[in-house]
Amino acid sequence: MSKKASSLIRQAQAKIPTKYGEFETIAFAEVAKDRMPHMVLINPKTDYSKTVNVRIHSECMTGDVFYSYKCECGEQLESSMKYIQENAGIIIYLRQEGRGIGIINKLHAYSKQDQGFDTAQANKELGFGYDDRTYEDAVAILSELGVKRVALLTNNPEKIAAFDNTEIEVVERISLEINPRQENIDYLRTKKTFFGHSLNNHKIT
Ligand SMILES: [Zn+2]
Repeated sequence: MSKKASSLIRQAQAKIPTKYGEFETIAFAEVAKDRMPHMVLINPKTDYSKTVNVRIHSECMTGDVFYSYKCECGEQLESSMKYIQENAGIIIYLRQEGRGIGIINKLHAYSKQDQGFDTAQANKELGFGYDDRTYEDAVAILSELGVKRVALLTNNPEKIAAFDNTEIEVVERISLEINPRQENIDYLRTKKTFFGHSLNNHKIT
């Protein structure tokens, strides 16, 4: 799903006022006609010479737009927007829907889940990897913006590992744990036990 990190270009930039405050918003893509550019939301008070709070969020239309309870993506995005407005920083919205398999295949995977497969096995059953997301585009965008040190809002060790052997240092992890719901507790349990996410809520064992 990578858009060839080295050739990502700032295609357009504008201010967007939101429920949580104003973000300087930049679209990054290789070419201007790309209909699915990565989106970068920046709190205008962000100081790039200091450690920058960063949320790398992979697109989840069902969660982010339709408030699905099958995952906690929408709530994580909302929580990140609030945090970044209160504390400065950057949200990078990566276009890798459904752990990188796209919305159509994600719906196929949800259908598999209805038949009893968990979130990881459903993707495998469809012939994909357990998680096909990559984060080098996010690292490239942060480099382009001039960020040197980050405090990452994440529970995902893969996102921290993505900065290994790069010029950007992860100096802190900020937990982004959402209270489980009945509809997503199995999903969160798989995230914790299978994918190794740092989830410490007592309901997820
Ligand atoms: Zn989601």
